[in-house]
Amino acid sequence: MVRAIVGANWGDEGKGKITDMLAQEADIVIRFQGGSNAGHTIINDYGKFALHLLPSGAFNPNTTCIIGNGVALNIPKLFEEINEIVSKGVPQPKILVSDRAQILMPYHVLFDTCEEARLAGKSFGSTKSGIAPFYSDKYAKIGIQVNELFDDEVLKERVEKICVLKNCMLENLYHQPPLVPEELMDTLHQYRDMVAPYVCDVSLYLHEALKEGKNILLEGQLGSLKDPDFGIYPMVTSSHTLAAYGALGAGIPPYEITNITTVVKAYSSAVGGGAFVSEIFGEEADELRRRGGDGGEFGATTGRPRRMGWFDCVASRYGCRVQGTTEAVLTVLDVLGYLDEIPVCVGYEIDGKVVRDFPATSLLEKAKPVLKVLPGWKCDIRGIKKYEDLPEACRNYVEFIEKELEVPIKMVSNGPRRDEIIYR
Ligand code: GDP
Repeated sequence: MVRAIVGANWGDEGKGKITDMLAQEADIVIRFQGGSNAGHTIINDYGKFALHLLPSGAFNPNTTCIIGNGVALNIPKLFEEINEIVSKGVPQPKILVSDRAQILMPYHVLFDTCEEARLAGKSFGSTKSGIAPFYSDKYAKIGIQVNELFDDEVLKERVEKICVLKNCMLENLYHQPPLVPEELMDTLHQYRDMVAPYVCDVSLYLHEALKEGKNILLEGQLGSLKDPDFGIYPMVTSSHTLAAYGALGAGIPPYEITNITTVVKAYSSAVGGGAFVSEIFGEEADELRRRGGDGGEFGATTGRPRRMGWFDCVASRYGCRVQGTTEAVLTVLDVLGYLDEIPVCVGYEIDGKVVRDFPATSLLEKAKPVLKVLPGWKCDIRGIKKYEDLPEACRNYVEFIEKELEVPIKMVSNGPRRDEIIYR
């Protein structure tokens, strides 16, 4: 059985917590896209961790953690993360890295940083992890696959070609010193030695695992609204964040993904620029940011304060639809316990007309939120284990959202810890 765990919103929905929780029963957890740009915060018996590249199954000694071919593989970052969790008492995780994954190079980070600086006030708000330059190179066919690390002749030729192109931009556009092929070769040799014990034909491995009926999780990063096609282009990420891409980024048949668990946040938060219709500002936003997540809504990778907003039914219903959601998880519901009344965005007003369907970016820029105010429950719901034990106003909030999402909410998360979950 393959279950994808993906986000309906702008990311930071709490997928890490849900993956960590479901990984206790999983044989395999796979990252299929993105890189070390996003962070999953996980709190379990070992402590609190911010994982960026390592799958959130890393805490279960029986789970094999896989970096799929769709990932932007930052080799030193991966090993830094493994070392960090092991140093805090977590057993050495079982890791496999796809022989077709491509390698994120230091020059990708350099280009990301230089381009953000060049764009200055008009930048994308990139985490400067090299993700956009990495995927650009992948599709321009000047990337480096893991299997190529083991063929020096291929590698040398590729590196020389890369240096010609990159140096033209580095010298003329960014006024930086050029890349030196021999130095890149040295770096790649170091990477080869680090990753060699873990390299695997992942697609074949998963083919066998599927035949054996293994329990497999695909762990998504970011959310629907950051997808390069279905998100708020161009303020999106550079790899697909949708469950459909799980098939490609892991190397499995699309029909094997039978469960798409979409994580939906009980209010909105976003990092980076772009349209955010239900955004709130000032003291109202500061308070929600302070109380949000686990110890405040600040990026797990950059520490940047997240932009805050009310729950957006239009964006979240769309987010669930484009994921192909079979079940939803509503997270961070406990955070809203301080509010007398909770506004939710139920429509967008665009050029004087109210719409329920999430539009493409050019129209989205003009949208104004249509808000409906629901009663708050004014108490702390952490510690509650049964749905019936939630206050009535809280259940009404969940059920209102469920109706708007048009998919069943099967789990409600009422705290950051692994066991703070209510099944419905
Ligand atoms: P991800 O990228 O989707 O994994 O999300 P992040 O880990 O970046 O952000 C989610 C934040 O919310 C983290 O700080 C989690 O510890 C926290 N969190 C997850 N679920 C809940 C919840 O139900 N309640 C509260 N209060 N915090 C939660």
